[in-house]
Amino acid sequence: MVTELGPAIRTRPTLAVWKFASCDGCQLTLLDCEDELLGLTERVRIDHFVEMTPAEGADRERARLEGRGPYDLSLVEGSISTAEDAERIQHVRHISRYLVTIGACATAGGIQALRNFVDVNDFLAAVYAQPEYIATLETSTPISAHVPVDFELRGCPIDRRQLLEVINAYLAGRKPQISNHSVCFECKRRGTTCITVAHGTPCLGPVTHAGCGAICPAYGRGCYGCFGPSSKPNLRAMIAQLRHDGMSERDIQRVFRTFNAASPDYAPVPDLAAEEQQSPPA
Ligand code: SF4
Ligand code: SF4
Repeated sequence: MVTELGPAIRTRPTLAVWKFASCDGCQLTLLDCEDELLGLTERVRIDHFVEMTPAEGADRERARLEGRGPYDLSLVEGSISTAEDAERIQHVRHISRYLVTIGACATAGGIQALRNFVDVNDFLAAVYAQPEYIATLETSTPISAHVPVDFELRGCPIDRRQLLEVINAYLAGRKPQISNHSVCFECKRRGTTCITVAHGTPCLGPVTHAGCGAICPAYGRGCYGCFGPSSKPNLRAMIAQLRHDGMSERDIQRVFRTFNAASPDYAPVPDLAAEEQQSPPA
């Protein structure tokens, strides 16, 4: 989702990076921009980023969370999985001019959204010795389910080139140039032989958002959908192809639920997989 952009952000704008329920992998992608990071810091003041704050300053940074800002651009990683998260994201939205969500956790609830399909108490009992001390919501939800979001950047983790494009676009006051096409486009562009056509390997590339550079097919394994749904994914055709390539109804449900479990685009998958099961591949 992209909102209308105003004029370019003022000189030396401020950037904030926020963490919610996540593994920190998407924040690390920003730190991984080694060649570009110094240039970026000349154009933008990174004003809040606990992940890159020295340990001795991190507690102070956390203590300053409330009441800070405003920030010109906020990057938000992670999903909303506690009542405290749900309150804090309102505050982050309030103090941010533009809010961009980064990664599968922030855009689709992430791996932790697997709880959305079962009783969360079953997970608590299985993982924690004393689950009564754990306070969590029954679901893990994307940031856009709670506050307006200016742009959603997909991936688990995100791609650094796409991240830099989004940051540069907001600094320049223009729309980010991020294609909505599928991994198949990237696969063809790099000249990879289609492993589904050549070997019958199940691959989610036709319905998965581009951004990774089609790495997995290039190394002989099927895309497993970490960048989430591409624009208008043809799920019915994809599920028929997965069945043709040997996947069961259960396997199809599981492969769609790995990283982007709570994506609304994938909601029809169980019904479509059950339908396909009743009409076995020709
Ligand atoms: S999207 Fe993936 S890499 Fe990014 S924070 Fe979530 S689990 Fe980690
Ligand atoms: S290998 Fe997968 S991503 Fe590549 S063209 Fe074939 S189906 Fe698409």
